[in-house]
Amino acid sequence: MSAPILKYQGVLSSLEPDARRKLLARTGESDTLVASRVQALIARVRTEGDRALFDFAREFDRVELASLEVPRERWNAALESIPSGVREALTRAARNIARAHAAQRPQATEVETEPGVVVGRRPDPLSRVGVYAPGGRAVYPSSVLMGVVPAKVAGVGEVIVCSPPGPDGLPSAGVLAAAALAGADRVFALGGAGAVAALAYGTESVPRVDRIVGPGNAYVAAAKLQVVDAVAIDAPAGPSEILVVADASARPDAVARELLAQAEHDPDACCVALVVGASLAQAVRDAVEQQARGARRGDIVLSALGSRGAVLRIDSLEEAWPFVAEFAPEHLLLATAKPSEDLARVRNAGTVFVGQRASVAFGDYLTGANHVLPTAGLARAYSGLSVLDFYRWTTWQRVTPEAAAAMADDVGTLADSEGLFAHADAARAWRMQ
Ligand code: NAD
Repeated sequence: MSAPILKYQGVLSSLEPDARRKLLARTGESDTLVASRVQALIARVRTEGDRALFDFAREFDRVELASLEVPRERWNAALESIPSGVREALTRAARNIARAHAAQRPQATEVETEPGVVVGRRPDPLSRVGVYAPGGRAVYPSSVLMGVVPAKVAGVGEVIVCSPPGPDGLPSAGVLAAAALAGADRVFALGGAGAVAALAYGTESVPRVDRIVGPGNAYVAAAKLQVVDAVAIDAPAGPSEILVVADASARPDAVARELLAQAEHDPDACCVALVVGASLAQAVRDAVEQQARGARRGDIVLSALGSRGAVLRIDSLEEAWPFVAEFAPEHLLLATAKPSEDLARVRNAGTVFVGQRASVAFGDYLTGANHVLPTAGLARAYSGLSVLDFYRWTTWQRVTPEAAAAMADDVGTLADSEGLFAHADAARAWRMQ
């Protein structure tokens, strides 16, 4: 009998504390190594600018670039050249993303906090943002849409796409086509930490941006965390994850397909199922084994399932919810009999797929929800990419003469108590007008 494909099997409540901790942390041994490598790469971009970026393309993408920027004619040509079925599907996805995100546009507010005192807040679109679209092990035109379309819906002035070059020195035709379709303003053939550093600090060719969004591998995620002195980022979205909660209504083959779909992203992907009942749990494991052995991206799938894959038995759904909240998965699939009711019990998931028919693949591509989501447990605090990521807020306050007179004494008292006497004077001066 061959070795099991999944790293963790058995019963959730009997998992060894160390195994449970590792599963929840889902960080690799190599994380500190990645962080220190990335630090060196960022430092080179800051001192050498474009020259470092050309070197990184040679070293990591194995290509000699003639230029970092991809002219617009190339993206328009790509849009013409891709198969019409892909173009139509991308157009449909872009339309749904625009619809979903337009409905989430924030509003300005004003409120009278006491008579004559008005406090307001207004969302202002960012001037320039960078959208990272991964392009190492797979190419992600869908991620271009997920970043660029919401930015444009928000009214961002300039949207810059970065994606690693292939052997021809260009991001994939799909990525270029998606950039054209979504209305990007500039595209650069740049990947990994180099792209993030260039967008954060600027180089001779790449303008610095106000915010960097988009998923990527461990190098991209580490780089985003290291440039926050210069730029805002979205949630650090790293290697993909899924948590499936399945009860007796679930089809084992469908649960297994969902695990494999995320596993094929990255050898560091984390794929977990909590399954009610021993026989269904075993059926899911068998289906995973069978599907993984025939998977087309088999190396990546086996590596991911072997290092972080888990199918764990639970005795009732009640056991699942505390684990969901603690694990805080990027994707949560509720393969349960009453998924809409269960949705109310979910805390801390990046995005939820309600019912086993709502395959994660639908959300990855077409529903219109955003697929750029927090990973590594950060869904505890961060939310998925949305139109809100493309604004900053201006707040204001207005004060009538009567309100100024009415606030002067209390403000004077508070300022005195903090020892800030000029503040007290500034307020008390308006007591009499
Ligand atoms: P990528 O574009 O993220 O990474 C490719 C780049 O990594 C290269 O251009 C290079 O610059 C850098 N790199 C590679 N090896 C390196 C090394 N040894 N040292 C320094 N830099 C190196 O593409 P990818 O690798 O295919 O990863 C895509 C990732 O995006 C996957 O992990 C996938 O799970 C994830 N993803 C996440 C989401 C989400 O929302 N969380 C969505 C889609 C994809």
